[in-house]
Amino acid sequence: MTQQVKLFIDGEFVHSNSDKLIPVTNPATQEIIAQVPCATAAEMQQAIASAKAAFQTWKEVPVSERARLMMRYAQLLKDHQADIAAIICEELGKTVEDAKGDVWRGIEVVEQAANIPSLMMGETVENVARSIDTYSYIQPLGVCAGITPFNFPAMIPLWMFPLAIACGNTFILKPSEQDPMTVNKLAELFVQAGAPKGVLQVVHGAKEQVDAILHHPDIKAISFVGSVNVGQYIYKTGTDNLKRVQAFAGAKNHMVIMPDANKQQVINALVGASVGAAGQRCMAISVAVFVGSAAEWIPEVAAAIGKVGPGHYSNPNAAYGPQISPQAKARVMSLIDQGKKEGATCLLDGSSCEVEGYPKGNWVGPTVFSNVTTEMEIYKQEIFGPVLNTMTVNSLQEAIELVNASPFGNGTAIFTASGAAARKYQHNVEVGQVGINVPIPVPLPFFSFTGWKGSFYGDQHAYGKQAVRFYTETKTITARWFDDDIAVSGPNMSINL
Ligand code: NAD
Repeated sequence: MTQQVKLFIDGEFVHSNSDKLIPVTNPATQEIIAQVPCATAAEMQQAIASAKAAFQTWKEVPVSERARLMMRYAQLLKDHQADIAAIICEELGKTVEDAKGDVWRGIEVVEQAANIPSLMMGETVENVARSIDTYSYIQPLGVCAGITPFNFPAMIPLWMFPLAIACGNTFILKPSEQDPMTVNKLAELFVQAGAPKGVLQVVHGAKEQVDAILHHPDIKAISFVGSVNVGQYIYKTGTDNLKRVQAFAGAKNHMVIMPDANKQQVINALVGASVGAAGQRCMAISVAVFVGSAAEWIPEVAAAIGKVGPGHYSNPNAAYGPQISPQAKARVMSLIDQGKKEGATCLLDGSSCEVEGYPKGNWVGPTVFSNVTTEMEIYKQEIFGPVLNTMTVNSLQEAIELVNASPFGNGTAIFTASGAAARKYQHNVEVGQVGINVPIPVPLPFFSFTGWKGSFYGDQHAYGKQAVRFYTETKTITARWFDDDIAVSGPNMSINL
């Protein structure tokens, strides 16, 4: 019998009473490795009530103690990086190095959360009027919640709960039902680090459990990462219920290649950024825009991408793993097919890809299209597979206009040897994260993850100072003290100054 994934409620890993179970499969083999329960309404209520009760004591814990919890947690995550990565490999199929990277990027956010005392400093102005000072504190909100996608099962939950909890909140996490076991390991280590009971709760499930979070009056703020339609739904429903919401959604990231760029750097960058992680990255480069004579490099780019391929995580030569599910694979295949029908040239076709020894895996080979136009579905939709579209334009200005016309604004890159071209691009492009000769410009956690346009709904972004603002409220105090009232008194004295 396969194991049933436990819920983590009120400090205990508990068996759910739910009769709604979703199979968790190994995407390289289709083996069912676990069943994940959809938490019942009573279990959701219990988790939220426990988080609400825990907030009353957790918010009083000194900020330096909260920071020390994060220091211990960061160390435990480092000690167990390989164990967590092994779970990711099994339930998501990432290569071992990629899975370790998923954990590492999360650890960096926990390290940032360990800096919480300086991040929570308020502001002061003395003498705003005679004898009057104004100062502000930032204080936690209460119970916050996170809803996470399948593609970074360690990093994205770690974008959320460590900073929220370091700020003094308590947290309800609803991980992806497609790879829920990684988060249970993260919770187990959080307990080992000394997290008090009730501060973090993990509830499993799908839409129904998300809806319970969206409608519960005791949840003050929601962080979401996932697809565009669900992101819009969560933003609209959460704010309609008067909650604070930050929703990170889908993307279509362009890399602009100028003719003066270093060709070999461009090719190396495109191989990793387009098909790495099977294209299942919100910052993947899915459109390469070649300016002028740089278009001559397209055949070489396709040839280089054709040299890598997917494989099982036990194979150190595998460049990337499978798609998360047969449905995800079928969607990518149908988009590749549609691209061909719509008239794009398929320079490299990964639609009939096999991996020896793993006939049931959700494999898609690397795929490259040229002659792509903005009307085609392969351009309009986020494919979320190992598929690169290439396009050509005549000038940098034309490239900027193309990128700015996209409804998405998560990430972009320009490859060039010209500081002037790079400066023009960074200044004019309407995208929140820009790489200059860096293909996937994900900021480290002392900055924030700042997607724009249809890739983000909300105001304050993930991690960095913005996350601390998102998970806190500002209290501004204006105080007047009268000199006349100063008196120092003790048992044997009373002195007026
Ligand atoms: P998804 O939207 O299908 O699922 C995300 C979460 O929402 C899951 O926990 C899921 O259970 C829940 N959910 C799914 N359908 C729902 C519904 N109808 N109502 C309420 N909740 C629902 O996303 P996914 O397929 O797991 O992840 C891939 C997507 O995430 C891609 O679009 C990718 O670009 C995006 N993503 C964005 C970022 C970013 O920072 N912008 C980062 C990673 C992933």
